[in-house]
Amino acid sequence: MSIDILQSSIAYLKGVGPSRAKLLASELNIHVFQDLLHFFPSRYIDKTKYHKISDLQQYADAEVQIVGQIIQIKNIPFKNTTRLTAIFKDQTGQIELVWFQGAKWIEKELKLHTPYVIFGKVKRFQQKFSMPHPEMELLEKHASSLKGSMQAIYPSTTKLQNRNISNKTISGMLQNLFLTQGVHFKETLSLDILNNQKLLDRSEALLQIHFPKNVNLLSKAQFRLKFEELFYVQLQLLRKNIISKQKIKGYPFPQIGTFFNRFYKDYLPFELTKAQKRVVKEIRKDLGSNAQMNRLLQGDVGSGKTIVALLSMLIALDNGFQATLMAPTAILAKQHFEGISELLKEMPIKIALLMGSSKTKERRLIHEELQSGALQILIGTHALLEDKVQFKNLGLAIIDEQHRFGVAQRAKLWRKNQLPPHVLVMTATPIPRTLAMSVYGDLDISVIDTLPPNRKPIQTLHKTDSQRLWVFNFIRSEIEKGRQAYIVYPLIKESEALDYKDLMDGFESVERYFPKPKYQISIVHGQMKPADKDFEMQRFVNGETQIMVATTVIEVGVNVPNASIMVIESSERFGLSQLHQLRGRVGRGASQSYCILLSGFKLSQESKTRLSTMVQTNDGFQIAEVDLKLRGPGDLMGTQQSGVLQLKISDVVRDRDILALARQWAKHILSKDPNLELPENAPIKWAYSELSKHKNIWNYIS
Ligand code: ADP
Ligand code: MG
Repeated sequence: MSIDILQSSIAYLKGVGPSRAKLLASELNIHVFQDLLHFFPSRYIDKTKYHKISDLQQYADAEVQIVGQIIQIKNIPFKNTTRLTAIFKDQTGQIELVWFQGAKWIEKELKLHTPYVIFGKVKRFQQKFSMPHPEMELLEKHASSLKGSMQAIYPSTTKLQNRNISNKTISGMLQNLFLTQGVHFKETLSLDILNNQKLLDRSEALLQIHFPKNVNLLSKAQFRLKFEELFYVQLQLLRKNIISKQKIKGYPFPQIGTFFNRFYKDYLPFELTKAQKRVVKEIRKDLGSNAQMNRLLQGDVGSGKTIVALLSMLIALDNGFQATLMAPTAILAKQHFEGISELLKEMPIKIALLMGSSKTKERRLIHEELQSGALQILIGTHALLEDKVQFKNLGLAIIDEQHRFGVAQRAKLWRKNQLPPHVLVMTATPIPRTLAMSVYGDLDISVIDTLPPNRKPIQTLHKTDSQRLWVFNFIRSEIEKGRQAYIVYPLIKESEALDYKDLMDGFESVERYFPKPKYQISIVHGQMKPADKDFEMQRFVNGETQIMVATTVIEVGVNVPNASIMVIESSERFGLSQLHQLRGRVGRGASQSYCILLSGFKLSQESKTRLSTMVQTNDGFQIAEVDLKLRGPGDLMGTQQSGVLQLKISDVVRDRDILALARQWAKHILSKDPNLELPENAPIKWAYSELSKHKNIWNYIS
């Protein structure tokens, strides 16, 4: 079939027409022939099995297929329409067929006393069985149709069902497409791939996915089409990466000089973990080349990303460039500033902190020294992005806790000088590597996958609300040892007022149990002014208060090593990644830390899984995997813009092996033939260019 035919409007397909075409477009996003071809079944049923009506007892609520005849048709008035029913009979008994919609239209079609094969879900009401909206096919036709033993079931919508576009209709359209248009489709993969991976060719795969002959061929077809889909996603991402490397030049930092070496030798407060060393090496390699670095550094909370950031900045300084570190909150920026100033206090390096609250005088000085080059490291918040902030020669921009910043904000830093600075984005949001590589295909990824040594793992306990007194007693005994505790309340956007009330009720009960002046309590929530929040946080950081009652605003980055208890109220209302982030606020000091998850007594299965996962493991990546399984990739941070969601047949979680394989092949091919010019890669080149031409069809490519 030529590609032009595949681009024909679906209205021209036999059995469709303009009004159905409109529905197909609005309901299923099917516009042209090819869209229909790529409208893949969601599941399959075994069509070789026929059920006896007398056996239906065991199949209530299951989908069954029965051969028999209609012996009676009735119209029953129902509210303001009519309901159509028919008695369907086989040798063993009878069942009622029911149509709530389209009664008139269907009645005309039905033939009495003629063998049919019907298919649908069996409902049981008292002792009677019925089947609403069955798929009906004359036995004669059923036998001669293209279908094999497996019947494809397509996703549908209520609107389509009401308008009588059934599974059979869709299947019929596809049959027309294959029969009238022939079944040859242009191959999109190279012979090399097809032979090596023993893949079905494209025509065969498309035929088998819609009309599988048997289970074996079906699974081969699925594999081939998933591979193809993921291969092109990866090819696109990898090419983007290559192109951006070719196009975007960066300042090469060839030298590792005295700043780096001296710090490493004399002031590094601990030995780097293996993972940290590996990541520093990766970054050094990037910075040494003359392409701009775009690297994502993933590391669980507490894995030691800050020191990697600092070492990277020192490399920029060694090459005569400035560096900046941007944090999502004032507290965090301040902590970075203080921590890094302390580490560098013996070295001749000028560092400043710039925040929204910085005084005019201070700002003016910072602006001046940035432009003269006297200031080498600038740490701050969003305030760094103001137009007035102009560097003399910014060489490296580091962004901490990436998910709080949008891409536009990242780009803003770039415009500040001629060549873009190298960019290192650090995040503690654990994204499984398989997913990360398809989400952040344009970023290189480094992972710190081990924690610094001698960390005591946080102990996590799950307690129900009725055990709150026990929890309060426990907190008290820890406070007596000089520790501090967080008590966190959930925050749901829909009802700020309610959240506030929850928080205040909680605060009052905490206050009753921990009375002043013996105990001091900080409270932080979303309705406070930023300055007040900072003030309260700071009191806790300084150890003036023992308990911090808060909504989830404390989620990001706060470092209070003396805090050893994290109590999470209504923990069943939090997502896994959020629970893990919150837990990461403790376990930063030398003492044993605890995370206590409070919840109601009755829990959904999913909540139970979440809480027991938290109790069982501290490993962020493992938690992310469970999270991904529970929620699917749709909710994961950052995936919304990535195109991962629009995959038509594959699933990045379930098909991660195929994803890895597809990525390997894409890499392999691009390494030998970056512009796809070799004759053997012609099919790939063709498919790749089609892909960019017909964005609407291959719209899973972002
Ligand atoms: P995060 O990755 O969450 O930003 P940090 O950089 O704040 O983690 O590090 C957490 C704590 O671990 C800090 O107190 C830091 O000094 C310490 N740390 C980092 N790396 C090491 C190491 N290799 N050995 C010992 N302690 C380390
Ligand atoms: Mg950090």
